[in-house]
Amino acid sequence: MESDTLQNGTHVKLSAKDFSSDQDVRWCPGCGDYSILAQVQRVMPSFEIPREKTVFVAGIGCSSRFPYYMNTYGFHGIHGRAAAIASGLKIARTDLDVWVATGDGDLLSIGGNHFIHILRRNINTVIMLFNNRIYGLTKGQYSPTSEHGKITKSSPFGTVDTPFNPLTLALGAGGSFVARTMDRDPKHMQDVVSKAHKHKGTSFIEIFQNCNIYNDGAYELYTEKDTKPENTINLEHGKPLLFGKDKNKGIKLDGFRPVIISLDDGIHTVNDVIVHDHTSKELAMILAQFSEIKGFPVPLGVLYEVERPCFEDEMEEQIEDSTRKKGAGDLEKLLFSGTTWEVK
Ligand code: SF4
Repeated sequence: MESDTLQNGTHVKLSAKDFSSDQDVRWCPGCGDYSILAQVQRVMPSFEIPREKTVFVAGIGCSSRFPYYMNTYGFHGIHGRAAAIASGLKIARTDLDVWVATGDGDLLSIGGNHFIHILRRNINTVIMLFNNRIYGLTKGQYSPTSEHGKITKSSPFGTVDTPFNPLTLALGAGGSFVARTMDRDPKHMQDVVSKAHKHKGTSFIEIFQNCNIYNDGAYELYTEKDTKPENTINLEHGKPLLFGKDKNKGIKLDGFRPVIISLDDGIHTVNDVIVHDHTSKELAMILAQFSEIKGFPVPLGVLYEVERPCFEDEMEEQIEDSTRKKGAGDLEKLLFSGTTWEVK
C-alpha cells in the first residue's frame, strides 16, 4: 500500500472515500452496520493517520465483516478473539492505530475473557461493540445482551438468562474510556468515535445497532423522534443531566440513589440537577445502570474518561530499562540456562 501522507513526495489529504474498500458490502439492506461503517469512514481522515498504519481487527459475526470494507489493514480473526489479537498486535507494534469491530455475541460471550483483560491492561485501542442484542449471522439466537424473557429461535419459551450490561461490565473491568452511541444518530456517533480515538488507553464504545432481520426495533424507544427525548439523556461533561422534549426533567441524587425530578413542579430548579463529571467512576456506574431502572432515560455519550498508564508503554519502558542494566537478551542462552532436562 502506498503511503497516504506522502505520495510522490507530496502530502495528500484523505477523504472518507479513501477509507472505503472495493469489496461489496454484504450486510442485509437496512442493517444498522451501514451507518456505523459510514460514520467511521467519515471521521478517519480527521485523525491524519496513514491507512497503512491503521488496522481493524474483528472476530466472527455480522459486525466482524467490518475490516473487509475498510481500505486499511485488517484482521478477520476467530470467534471471540478480536480483543486478544488486537492486544498482541498493539503490544508488538505500538506504532499502529488498532481498532476492534465486534458484536455482542463475539465480545461478551466467547470473547468475554479477552474483553475484561484488554480493559484492565488499558491497551491503546478502540473497541466498537455493535450491540444488536441477538446473534444475527447464525440467524437469530439470543445473545448475552438479549433481555430476560426474550423469545428467539434458541429460547422459544423466553430466555431465562440475565443479560450483561456492557457499560457496567466495562467500568468494572477497569475501562478508562466508556461511552455509548447509536446507529441512528450519525453526528453523535462521529463525535463519540472521535473522542474515543483521541483517548489514550482502551476506549470502549457500545453502539446500539438495529438488526432489522432478527431483532428489529430493539432500540425504537431511543431512536424514534417522538419517544427519544423522554427516553434518552445526552451526557456532556460539565453540563447538568437534563432530558425530555423541553429539557424540563433532570436527575438528582438522593444519596447514591438517582431520582427523576421535574423542573416544572415549583419545587426543583436546575441547581438540584447533578452535573455530569466524566471523571467520576461512581457517577458513571450510576448512569450505566439507568437502562435497568424502569422509567429512566438511557445515557448516550461519554460516561467515563480518565487517563491512566497503558500496558504497552510500561512494558516497553521495562524492556528498555532491563536492556540498559543487563544488556541485550539472548533467547538461546535463556532457553538452555538454569535447570534443564534431556529426554532420551
Ligand atoms: Fe445486520 Fe441483522 Fe442482517 Fe446481520 S442479520 S447483516 S445484523 S440485519
